[in-house]
Amino acid sequence: MDAVERKILENIESHREEILGFARDLYSHGELGFKEKETARKFAERMKALGLRVQEGLAVTGVKAYLNPEKKDQVSLGLIGEMDALRIPNHKCANPATQAAHCCGHHCQMAGILGAALALSDPEVAAALDGQVVFFAVPAEEYGEVEFKNRLREEGKIRYGGGKCELIRIGAFEDIDLSIVHHSSVGNKIIFVNGTNNGFVSKVIRYKGTAAHAAGAPHLGVNALHAATLGLTALQYLRDTFQDKDHVRIHPIITRGGDLVNVVPEEAVVETLVRAGNKEALEDACRKTDRAFFAGGAALGAAVEIETLPGYLPTLATGISEELVEAARTASDGKYEILLRPNPAENLNTSSTDVGDLQHVQPVCSFRTGGIAGRMHSADFDVVDEELAYLMTAKIFALGAYRFLKDGAKAAKKVVEDYRPVFTREEYVAYMDSQIRTEVRAGERLEELAGNKADK
Ligand SMILES: [Zn+2]
Ligand SMILES: [Zn+2]
Repeated sequence: MDAVERKILENIESHREEILGFARDLYSHGELGFKEKETARKFAERMKALGLRVQEGLAVTGVKAYLNPEKKDQVSLGLIGEMDALRIPNHKCANPATQAAHCCGHHCQMAGILGAALALSDPEVAAALDGQVVFFAVPAEEYGEVEFKNRLREEGKIRYGGGKCELIRIGAFEDIDLSIVHHSSVGNKIIFVNGTNNGFVSKVIRYKGTAAHAAGAPHLGVNALHAATLGLTALQYLRDTFQDKDHVRIHPIITRGGDLVNVVPEEAVVETLVRAGNKEALEDACRKTDRAFFAGGAALGAAVEIETLPGYLPTLATGISEELVEAARTASDGKYEILLRPNPAENLNTSSTDVGDLQHVQPVCSFRTGGIAGRMHSADFDVVDEELAYLMTAKIFALGAYRFLKDGAKAAKKVVEDYRPVFTREEYVAYMDSQIRTEVRAGERLEELAGNKADK
């Protein structure tokens, strides 16, 4: 350990109560995606108190704070903290009004980047960094509240549903060359994973039929629920055409299926996410999903509207950062086990994250810390080791940033040089926009159904 590393660890130790206080405060005041107003305000306040230049209101609630802006041309490193919580009404910390609770542990990331800012903004440490550091609080990693997001879309405040997706679109990552991201995990280890996550798109499928007396005159109706059910069945029959290697997951729900049992359902609505491990499989699964749902409408004579919105891209297996592993060794000093999981074939995750989107346009290095008990996204989620969940996270963020930026930012520049983007920002936006579409197939009009007119 060199003198700067010692100073970084001392700085975090001397601010431990502040970091813990911030983490506990966020834990008990969770906010949902694109609504993280208080979280953003508290973070921005602390960044300003450190004398950092702050940008607020990015993709509704995002906050950036700049350290060493005069060195931005050498290299610019982002330390990312996600701000949003989940709606888990029976969690002990759930906000009584919004039911928001931090059951994915994003508040641990926020505590981590606050601690890193406290340590790295020390003039002696800042002077040893040959590059700019951007402490970046980002909104809306969890995908949900589609109707609320659609409202934001209509108001022109966002175009995509994911926080990082939106931040890429508006150019908020343009002044960052590479980023460090973190996620909490259940258990008591520090973990490095070289793995992949599924990408997804979201679909809302509306069936429009014709109402009629359900017992007296069903022949005059077009049953939208039956059409939806047939669409769902067609989708089931397609499942054996998805290849295991692509990890396709399609999990529809019916959100509307009729109003009164006496009436032939005039409208039925199905929502689904379509997920897969790579872009090609995702496109294939989308095509088949659309075909299945349209088929339900065709058979019953109902009109079908399918509204598709982009979700997240699949994450890429980009390796394990040696610099972060070394940072973790220094931070932990033997106290916590450090687990490396380098084989992508063993690290396939069928859930999704917008970190994948960022990986498609710039390099991202990641680490995980434990300190969590229970299950992620569940009411029994809890932080049981604050030292590991909060302070160790801050130490690895800060020591990692130092390792990347010391000695002329050698390590950071190597990561940037070795990186091959899948998309430029413009290509990314074009790809995402190409996913946004609403397709309609009309059903037969009632008048065209044979022979029933006289019964009206
Ligand atoms: Zn989550
Ligand atoms: Zn999460």
